Formats: sequence, structure tokens, C-alpha cells
Amino acid sequence: MPDIAAAVDLAEIVAFAQKLIQTPSLSGEEQAVADLVERRMRELGYDQVHRDAMHNVVGVLKGSGGGTSLLFNGHLDHAGVGEMPRPFSGAWMDGAEFCRSGPVLYGRGASDMKAGLAAMVQAGGVVKKLGLPLKGDVLVTCVVREEMARGEGVKAVLEQGFAADYAVNAEATNLRVYVGHRGKAELGVTTFGQTSHGGNPAGGVNAILKMTRFLAALEKSYPLPRHEFLGDATWTVLDIEASPGALTPIVPDRCRAVIDRRFLPEESQEDVLGGLRAVIAGLAAADPEFRAEVELLKWFPAMFTPPDSPVVRAMQRARRGVLGQEGKVGSWYFGVDGTFLNQAGIPCVGFGPGDEYLAHTPHDVVPVSHLVPACLVYVQLITDMCT
Ligand SMILES: [Zn+2]
Repeated sequence: MPDIAAAVDLAEIVAFAQKLIQTPSLSGEEQAVADLVERRMRELGYDQVHRDAMHNVVGVLKGSGGGTSLLFNGHLDHAGVGEMPRPFSGAWMDGAEFCRSGPVLYGRGASDMKAGLAAMVQAGGVVKKLGLPLKGDVLVTCVVREEMARGEGVKAVLEQGFAADYAVNAEATNLRVYVGHRGKAELGVTTFGQTSHGGNPAGGVNAILKMTRFLAALEKSYPLPRHEFLGDATWTVLDIEASPGALTPIVPDRCRAVIDRRFLPEESQEDVLGGLRAVIAGLAAADPEFRAEVELLKWFPAMFTPPDSPVVRAMQRARRGVLGQEGKVGSWYFGVDGTFLNQAGIPCVGFGPGDEYLAHTPHDVVPVSHLVPACLVYVQLITDMCT
């Protein structure tokens, strides 16, 4: 058994993570950071490095055949910087300023997910350096346009034929094993009324007041399911508008709200739409003037890989080997590209450095102490599954 721990160099991972953070890569502008990743994979001795016109980069470690193959996935892009100061410094800082103990790397994308990219790309290098006898292939996929939440980058990579028996998504999990996330639906709900002069409200039907009834009914009597590992389904209202508007004193005959609904893997589009339609039907039965419609605006699929799946069990073993404990399995509160891997029939588990709650915030940092363990766990997993 080669000494994996001795083969992972902290300074090397830190330097690479810092370079990634220092290279801006908004969605659709990933070329420079893709250059960096491609160059690093070549330096580390990957057997093949593929790059497509979108700037998705896929590094391959070829196995001798007959073994389990594993696909690592991460994204090259980061969220907008907002008012974050010095967002591309990649500075090594004292974590105390961010309520973390020990040093951190600071900058947009540190937690989401340039530290994860660095750990998984370096892990491939460690496998090469140690000459681990791979049977199955290891693919390291670094994809574009994840933050736009349509899976364009990862879907393109899948369409090009890259596939494996199992997958790992390296988004931030605080070094815990994650099994997925709830799905996200955005729904437009429109209530209808009848216009009248603002000075004569009794002459019309106010669509805004009908909407308040609808939202109150959701708060009071809208049953939502719960998942043992992914948590509660939830709803909230994101936006509300009415027309014709306040330019003239007119009672509105239309009011539209956008509802964010987080759903569980067992809920279909029809289930989610049907639940809201049932609330509308209940209100209409009690009030002949109540009229409303619901439409689906966006749908991001839920991800769930059962905890007894071989890749989750193997990830827990790898974590125990490196950190001493399997830890409790968890789930992300946001969505990741792993859901598209699951949909493509590649069971995916989550494990990565950094805290998901720092993603997209102005306190975007990753503890330096997460980098080597993340890389070690990946190498351990590869050793367990692919050799
Ligand atoms: Zn992310």
C-alpha cells in the first residue's frame, strides 16, 4: 500500500487553488480558468486531456480494463462578485475574521467551488505520481456554466460520451458525505379580478386581495412532505406584481406571484402543480369570485443517491480512512450538477472542501485545513473503487 498522505503536497494544492481563485470566470467566461486547469492536468501527467468549444475540460486516467470507473465533477464558473472587496485576491488570511479557526483562502469562488476543483484535479496527479494500478478509468470533468442552473456544461460533456459507473460531485460539503438535494420549481400564480375606479372599490374585484387570500391559504393549509435525508419540502414567495398598475387609480384585475417550491425526489411536476391547484380549488369553492391559474416557470430536478448505494458507502469508507469517522450523511440546501449525472444513470455522491453556506456570500473563503483531506479522500476513494 503506497503512502498516499506523503504524496499530497499542501503547498502545491494551495498554490493551484489560489491561481484558480485569482482567475475570474463568470458563467460563459471560463476560457482563462479552463486554460489553467488544462495546463495543470497536463503537468500532472493525465493520460488524456479533452477540451471542447464551450471550454469544458475533461482529464482522463486510463485503467487497464475490467474495473469500476469513477467520474469526478466540478464547475469552473463562479457567481457574480457584488460588492465583495478584492474578490480575486486569493489571499491567505486569518480565518478569525470569518469566524473560522486557522488560515483560509479568500476570494470569489473559494468555497464554490475552486477549492473543490483544485482538490479533485490534484487527486488525479497523486494517482499518477503513486502509479496506482487502475483497472477502471478515472475521469475528472471541470465544466462551464453551472451557476446558470441549467446543467449546460455537464450535459454537453455527457453528450460527448464521457461516462462512468459512479460519480462524485466536489461542491462544498464541509468534508461531509452528501447524498443529494431537493429540487427547485418556480411557479407563476395569477389571480384574476375585475377593474373598477379606485374611488369605487366595491364596483370591482381586487386581484391583489385575492392573492393575499391565496398566500394565506398556503401558509395555513398546504401540506408539504418531508424526506429523511433531504429535509422538508418548502415554499416561499419571491415576487409579486399587479396590473394595470398605479399610474391611474384603478382596481387591478390581475395579480401575479412567483412561488419558489423546493420539492422531494418522489414529487412529480404534476404533484407540485396539483398541490397548488387543490389550494385554488378550495378557495374557489368558498368564494365564487375567486379565480386563479398556476403555471410552471422553472424546474431543477432533485438529486438523491440512496445511502446504501455502493458509491456512498465507498465515500464513507474513504472519509473514515482519512478523517477517522464516516460522519452523518447530509444534503445540500442548493442544487448541483450531480443531479444531471444521476439522471444520466451515474449514481453520484457529494464530498468537497468548504462550507456551502459561504457560497455566493461576500465572506467566500475555504479553510486551508480542508484542502489536503479533500484530496486524500478522493485518492482513497479511487484506490478503493478503481484499483
Ligand atoms: Zn457550485
